[in-house]
Amino acid sequence: MKKILILHTGGTIAMSEDEHGAVAPGSENPLNQFVNPFTTDLKLITENIFNLPSPHMEPQQMLQLQKRIMLAIDEGIDGVVITHGTDTLEETAYFLDLTIPTTFPIVLTGAMRSANEIGSDGLHNFRCAIQTAASKQAAGKGVLVVMNDEVHTARYVTKTHTTNVATFRTPTFGPIGLVSKNGVTFFEQLLLHTALPIEHVVDHVYLIKAYAGMDPELLANLANSNTQGVVIEALGAGNLPPRVLDALQKLLDLNIPVVLVSRCFNGIAQDVYDYQGGGVQLSQMGVTFCHGLNGQKARIKLLVGLSAGLSGQELATFVTDAVS
Ligand code: ASP
Repeated sequence: MKKILILHTGGTIAMSEDEHGAVAPGSENPLNQFVNPFTTDLKLITENIFNLPSPHMEPQQMLQLQKRIMLAIDEGIDGVVITHGTDTLEETAYFLDLTIPTTFPIVLTGAMRSANEIGSDGLHNFRCAIQTAASKQAAGKGVLVVMNDEVHTARYVTKTHTTNVATFRTPTFGPIGLVSKNGVTFFEQLLLHTALPIEHVVDHVYLIKAYAGMDPELLANLANSNTQGVVIEALGAGNLPPRVLDALQKLLDLNIPVVLVSRCFNGIAQDVYDYQGGGVQLSQMGVTFCHGLNGQKARIKLLVGLSAGLSGQELATFVTDAVS
């Protein structure tokens, strides 16, 4: 019989609605009432590791989860399911993807409607996540996110809608599998990467979004010795307004790694435009282009690289390529 470790961390999937429609955690996680529908095949080992709304999740808690899962490798666990709030689920998923060098399935799931709401998606998503974690084909595909009958990779999935149950999407590439009554079907293979096991996490890695007429003050304020790294969601193919270039140069002069992604929902940031503030100039200044990740994922990748002690060219290479 396969052993699936269930780690509950909180989020809407663990919350209920009151008579006024307000959604909040209660004293007991409603998921603890879940009756295992797979008793003949699966043993579920459940731990309530946190009960946090996911805006309260920090890299420290992500590291705690990573350490718990690393222990599971020696406990003969066959797969892991993590229930999580959806707001930052993609960040925790990608953090674990980058830091756990294991091939057993690790699946995150959550809910858009709390436990007692009409049409609540929590138990269904939870069941699909367990099915996926128990599936042989889910092994070796990195950390997965299962929501609304779809299987997505931690690397590319993102929350796209504030309330819709079909919120989790993978721009550019799409999901890699589907969950149906008959089981899980995969139709794509993810390019693997090497995980970086880390022992601690650094602070002060910032994420900033560019906009037309972007003011330089925010970047200028980051040019200090506390700042470990900065990710900028740049315009279009990877360009910035000229007004911020001096502040950007100050960051680079302090050897603070600056990573660029695009604020566009699809595609990758590249150094193609050769005008003031264009990607060619940014690249020559020493900005690192990160290919294919959104801003919050690039920030997690930079944070993990820095936490692993990478710097200079090694860090730039790690951050540039989504599959490294
Ligand atoms: N705000 C909630 C959270 O992220 C939303 C959710 O769980 O879906 O914890």
